[in-house]
Amino acid sequence: MSEYYNVSEIFGENVFNDTVMRARLPKKVYQQLKRTIEEGKDLDPATADVVAHEMKEWAIEKGATHYSHWFQPLTGVTAEKHDSFITAPGEDGKALMSFSGKELIKGEPDASSFPSGGLRATFEARGYTVWDCTSPAFVRQDAAGATLCIPTAFCSYTGEALDAKTPILRSMEAVNEQALRLIRLFGNTTSKKVFPSVGPEQEYFLVDRKKYLKRKDLIFAGRTLFGAMPPKGQEMDDHYFGGILERIAAYMKEVNKELWKLGVTAKTQHNEAAPAQHELAPIYASCNIAVDHNQLIMETLKKVAGRHGMTCLLHEKPFAGVNGSGKHNNWSLTTDDGINLLEPGDTPHENVQFLLVLTCMLKAVDKHAELLRESAADVGNDHRLGADEAPPAIVSVFLGEQLEDVLSQLISTGEATSSLDGGVLQTGVKNIPDFAKDATDRNRTSPFAFTGNKFEFRMVGASDSIAAPNVVLNTIVAEAFSDACDILEKADDFEMAVHDLIKEQATAHQRIVFNGNGYSKEWMKEAERRGLPNICSMVDAIPALASEKSVSLFEKFNVFTRTELESRVEVLYENYAKAINIEARTMIDMAGKQIIPAVIKYTTSLANSINAVKAACGADVSVQTELLMETSRLLAEAKQALTRLTEVTTRAAVMEEGREQAVFCRDRIITAMDALRAPVDQLEMMVDKEMWPMPSYGDLIFEV
Ligand code: ADP
Ligand code: MG
Repeated sequence: MSEYYNVSEIFGENVFNDTVMRARLPKKVYQQLKRTIEEGKDLDPATADVVAHEMKEWAIEKGATHYSHWFQPLTGVTAEKHDSFITAPGEDGKALMSFSGKELIKGEPDASSFPSGGLRATFEARGYTVWDCTSPAFVRQDAAGATLCIPTAFCSYTGEALDAKTPILRSMEAVNEQALRLIRLFGNTTSKKVFPSVGPEQEYFLVDRKKYLKRKDLIFAGRTLFGAMPPKGQEMDDHYFGGILERIAAYMKEVNKELWKLGVTAKTQHNEAAPAQHELAPIYASCNIAVDHNQLIMETLKKVAGRHGMTCLLHEKPFAGVNGSGKHNNWSLTTDDGINLLEPGDTPHENVQFLLVLTCMLKAVDKHAELLRESAADVGNDHRLGADEAPPAIVSVFLGEQLEDVLSQLISTGEATSSLDGGVLQTGVKNIPDFAKDATDRNRTSPFAFTGNKFEFRMVGASDSIAAPNVVLNTIVAEAFSDACDILEKADDFEMAVHDLIKEQATAHQRIVFNGNGYSKEWMKEAERRGLPNICSMVDAIPALASEKSVSLFEKFNVFTRTELESRVEVLYENYAKAINIEARTMIDMAGKQIIPAVIKYTTSLANSINAVKAACGADVSVQTELLMETSRLLAEAKQALTRLTEVTTRAAVMEEGREQAVFCRDRIITAMDALRAPVDQLEMMVDKEMWPMPSYGDLIFEV
């Protein structure tokens, strides 16, 4: 194929999308499948067989030899088990290719090794993958050949969710139901469905693969565990939106093409704040598809990097002291007929609906700030949140001057409205200016910002699935809508009631609104005064997931049962302890086998040179001696810290999995890791570069 191509010709070419289905499936089968996709109607076995057969034929034309149920267990990444299409050879010795409706709809991977937080006792280790037909199947072509991938949900034998996908689908259902109730109150009788639209912006780093392979910390932990700052950092701001290097440009070009073939709308690409850091954003899509596509984006970024002699780092903080990577989760609510409920609009009537939606969101975020914070917690993100480069660990909402002004008008003119003669709604609304989109200023320090016609949740970590934050967003908004509808559906005077409710919600939850600098010390104090939670570590964020408040929220909307939540809490603690343990063991390995021996070599060479100079001419060796003293002192400090780290890591290893172990990892192991890193980073600045056993920060991020 020529190097140049027409995007519209390749876009979605490997996706079993609506066009393909319509073209290939018998009309009746197509209609039935559509009903399943759109209305969740059961798919009967005969129809499923026809769909499976056609899907297989189509996939084989694309070179597929295998199919795979593609699912998202609680590891944060996707999993798949490949089966080939072939059947046992017949008498003629020839194998046929087959794929049944049963195989399409349900799979049973050997699930016992995926985290379940105790949900699957060993005697009942079964897990099922079930086709999520709302997310289209696709053929992935790579070195492994071509594989038909079927997006699925992953559940236990008893129906408990074991994955990231199932709760997404449940939460979408919840917000759909409640949002429909809400828009019906405003006279909308035509929209049939409301779904969250999500556009995640993905940040990542690229490093040269040969250098990457010389860093065990990058290989095992995905981030550097040692490393002195280079002479130049990002202070010049010359990388941000800067010109893209040829090597990177060629990479991005291939990433885009791969993604387009998979129907992922890769749209925006640019350099990010830190050197070697970049961003890719797709056009927003329906929530569950956005979740799947974000996984495909992460997979593709990694895979294509290898082909270009690079490695893509998705870790939230690959390099200490250099900007980390996040994922901005843009979120809005859209109806099937294209109305965005977060669009301020320009007619007063629509503005009232918008203001109700807006204040419901304030209520949702205020009430469930801890839960939202938890949804963005992952091990790597602990290095970012609150570190003056990413949002603080305090959840607040940025509305921009114009909207905040509208809210304060509402709150204060509320007093005056009682004197108005039946025109409550109108007067309330007349004060509302048009919200030109550009009027919302950018505030990069806010974790949850209104940006014209969507909210941007900026806390999410770069390596994390966006499923959890969207499950939380969908469900907390569903709850706020439900509460509002409970009141408004009973109201005698709807207009009066809605006005009162908007005012009440705006007043009750104005503490969550903050337009100032989220990085400032003053905000920490102010937030504390307002009673907003400031949760600095993942370990402290986790309990919110199964708090009584969260359990009743999720159970009310059938998103999670208490058991599912408690099992997820277990998984999170385990994941945390495992990650810290890997980091600690990697440090022990690097320090013991690479760094300390290198420093010893250096000190030995210094000592030899001191002796040699003395013997040769008796010249002044004070510089060498001073260096030797200093490196030896740091070496001793490093050795001591290494012993300490080994001790605590060994202790953690024998602890029972759970909160106590996670807390121990955070309080004891991380402290011991920091204590080892400090002298080593100083040594790196002193030891002969030729002798330092690994590439430096400068080598890694300035010479990609
Ligand atoms: P930024 O200036 O923050 O980079 P962009 O305009 O590039 O913002 O959009 C960022 C992401 O937000 C993109 O993925 C885009 O598709 C998505 N987005 C735009 N509008 C909406 C919306 N109404 N709902 C959800 N996501 C949206
Ligand atoms: Mg953004």
